[in-house]
Amino acid sequence: MSRPWPPAGVRPAFKGEQAAVKLADRVEHLPPYVFASLAARIAARRAQGDTVINFGMGDPDLPMDPPLVEAVCAAAHDPASHRYPNYFGLPELRQAIAAWYGERFGVDLNPDSEVLPLIGSKEGIAHAMLAFCDPGDRVLIPNPSYPAYRYGALLASAEPCDMPLCAANGFLPDLDALDRDLPPRTRVLWLNYPNNPTGAVADLAFFARVVAFARRHEIFVAHDNPYSEICFDGYRAPSILQVPGAREVAVEFHSLSKSYSMAGLRVGMIVGNAQVVEALGRVKSNLDSGVPTVVQRTAVAALTGDQAGIATRNAIYAARRDRLVAALNTAGIAAQPPQGSLYIWGQTPAGVSAQAFADRLFAEAAIVVTPGTSFGSGGAGYFRLSLTVPDTEVAEAVRRLAGLRF
Ligand SMILES: *Cc1c(COP(=O)(O)O)cnc(C)c1O
Repeated sequence: MSRPWPPAGVRPAFKGEQAAVKLADRVEHLPPYVFASLAARIAARRAQGDTVINFGMGDPDLPMDPPLVEAVCAAAHDPASHRYPNYFGLPELRQAIAAWYGERFGVDLNPDSEVLPLIGSKEGIAHAMLAFCDPGDRVLIPNPSYPAYRYGALLASAEPCDMPLCAANGFLPDLDALDRDLPPRTRVLWLNYPNNPTGAVADLAFFARVVAFARRHEIFVAHDNPYSEICFDGYRAPSILQVPGAREVAVEFHSLSKSYSMAGLRVGMIVGNAQVVEALGRVKSNLDSGVPTVVQRTAVAALTGDQAGIATRNAIYAARRDRLVAALNTAGIAAQPPQGSLYIWGQTPAGVSAQAFADRLFAEAAIVVTPGTSFGSGGAGYFRLSLTVPDTEVAEAVRRLAGLRF
């Protein structure tokens, strides 16, 4: 669990509060990251001697495959990797990413112009807004969604516009409604399937509609696809770049964090439209100095090595999913098993708010789930439970849930 932020004794400067320093508006409007304040409550509960089971964060608990740990060590022993990394990625990493996309999706990428490694995809997602948007430009963001799209837009002084995702639409945005009523100055549309937090998936026919929509309105699509490899029951998630012509209007973000349990190493990529990839590279070359070479070499080992670990881990996630969905259902809580992602998106009992439900689970069972509203107002009436919790703790959570009735 991360240490609490803000640090003890520091009162953040928020809009409308008396602050000793005047900070930028964009910072004073920025809430603390959703998981930061929770850390303090968990720490307090643990200090009382309670065993807290934290289903809050999507942080893979299963370790990296041993050959990848060896790759880290081997790279660390090479003094060449102690120097500044290649800003735009080692050629062998860009080639490995392109080859992986070819093999996995049948998408043929130019490793020199259509691929750029990122320091984890979150970094690229937030910084991409600086390349995509001028102040005041609008960005279509699913609600609920992963918070980085919204806050990345706000940090770039762009204006986030909600696209509601609801169960009736399979948690896909209503493109027909947007066709009728697209806000002026819309520049980008964000998507993420398999979806965090809802676990929803999208098929290629939907992505084809999105690509046509983007062409029609001359906007740009950014698809965030970190869960393409975390799929269950034989489902295989597509890439938006499989749609013919997609790369004229789209990029895809991807990450090694979830598929290879490499969240601690920080490496992801953006692929697709060459001009967008170039623009983000230009922004980033003024902000950071690339992915550490040790990490880049480990990423090459992950993408080119034995892929069997993915299926092994997915079988473990699927077993946890099934036990937890069954336990929730028995306790009277509606939840369906997702086909992809690392999340169960459950419905809170009628009349119980997302926050009240999360608070009750924490108070009565020392179980942490994320209230759906942490992902936007569209998460009202839902909670998210992550499958990245060790099996023994899942078993204990199932026991605790058996003692609850909703
Ligand atoms: C985990 C996650 C990411 C971030 O992955 P990193 O590569 O670790 O930064 C991006 N998008 C979504 C939807 C995620 O759930």
